[in-house]
Amino acid sequence: MNIRIGPLAAWLALALFLGVGSVWPEEGAPPFFPALGHSALFFGVFFLFFYILPHYFQLPMQIFWGMLLGLLAGWGLTAMDQMALVTDYFGIFGTLFIQLLTMVILPLIIASIISGVANIGDVKRLGGLGAKTLGYYCCTTAVAVFIGLLCVNVIRPGAGQEDLEDRVAAMEEAEEEREATLGSQIQDNVLPQIVPHINIGAIPIIPIIFASILLGAVMAAVGKETEPALRFFQAIDKAIVQLVLWIMRLAPIGVFALMGGVVATMGLEYIPMLGLYVATVILALTLHFAVLVFVVVPTLGGTSPKVFLRGMAPAIQLAFSSSSSSATLPVTMDCATRRVGASKRISSFMLPLGATINMDGTALYQAVAVLFIAQVYGIGLTLPEQFLVFLTAVMVSIGTAGIPGASVGLMSIVLASVGLPIAGVGIVLGVDRFLDMCRTVVNINGDATGSVLLSRLEGEMGEPENY
Ligand code: ASP
Repeated sequence: MNIRIGPLAAWLALALFLGVGSVWPEEGAPPFFPALGHSALFFGVFFLFFYILPHYFQLPMQIFWGMLLGLLAGWGLTAMDQMALVTDYFGIFGTLFIQLLTMVILPLIIASIISGVANIGDVKRLGGLGAKTLGYYCCTTAVAVFIGLLCVNVIRPGAGQEDLEDRVAAMEEAEEEREATLGSQIQDNVLPQIVPHINIGAIPIIPIIFASILLGAVMAAVGKETEPALRFFQAIDKAIVQLVLWIMRLAPIGVFALMGGVVATMGLEYIPMLGLYVATVILALTLHFAVLVFVVVPTLGGTSPKVFLRGMAPAIQLAFSSSSSSATLPVTMDCATRRVGASKRISSFMLPLGATINMDGTALYQAVAVLFIAQVYGIGLTLPEQFLVFLTAVMVSIGTAGIPGASVGLMSIVLASVGLPIAGVGIVLGVDRFLDMCRTVVNINGDATGSVLLSRLEGEMGEPENY
């Protein structure tokens, strides 16, 4: 374990500051033992999340522990009448994590869309393939969101709780009570002075996505002269993707805090509800995966599902374990061409484009998560509103980067499109990483099935190599 004195002392100082601050009375000196106890608790949590867990586990497992411990802390501390410690003090890390993620949303989607779409510069070279690719990607993403909406409306994982309104009222009350403490002051007044506090609801995201798609397309059409601009946006894209990976290192403690906060305010009934939500997402993802592999691949792609699945297995495994379509791309290319027999020419155009703009699993996930959050808040969404969720989820999935957790920040856009509170992200965040693994598999599967299908349509489907 790499323990350097400087950072450790900084954590200790922060723990003392929060520990003493959390018991500071209106008048007089703070009580000694509670101050000591709280400081030790804060320090213990910091030590656990920044030293012990990183030493023993990779990030996904650390996030899992964050979720589990958040559940325990939310439940335990509330039972000990210390709810403010969870919502106000540990909540600082949840707020910080979410604020950092929302900070990068705009540059991320602008750079990712422009550089993704502008790469279609190849369209001219590839004839009608560009249009067919975009058509296929749009159709499958729309089908994915439709399946997601269907499942979440039928199963209704967030509904059917009799005391739902009481719990929402409790959440709002807790929100109001937060005014008073040092922790809530830090969250409401200090953090926004340092980390940009972006109100996603107030930003016209869809027009921005639309303009970015147009700008990318026009850059592709103009070609050579716009190349420096394309390289600029590609560089920004690379930098922001790296920034998101840095921010994700805060995910374990962020998830701990957010999960704790939700359990503290909503009670333990939340857990089975969350389980049902996870099951709903997995069911919808599986249905979409099955439609593509068992219907589209054999009929339109002329390939047996067995050959396809056997060939794609390494890419599927990597997508699941890395939660990143971009990181999986080289393996997806290799599997689709060499092991399944898709055309090299078509795959080398479709798959990189797909890894940037075609995210069936992500779009489906956004729709299910947002409807689930609406159900938890007891807000029924009308059909036109659900249609808006549908459109926004498709748009947002185009702008999602193929990296772990990219959807988390962008979910606020879909929430805001139908006027739901952005804080709702906290309700689903604890289980996001696991669902990220599952949706990334569906994301790369959508790209690979596309390359098989178009290879067949263009008469370029080859034989899989022996392996
Ligand atoms: N991790 C996903 C991917 O790389 C994106 C997401 O967060 O939905 O495909």
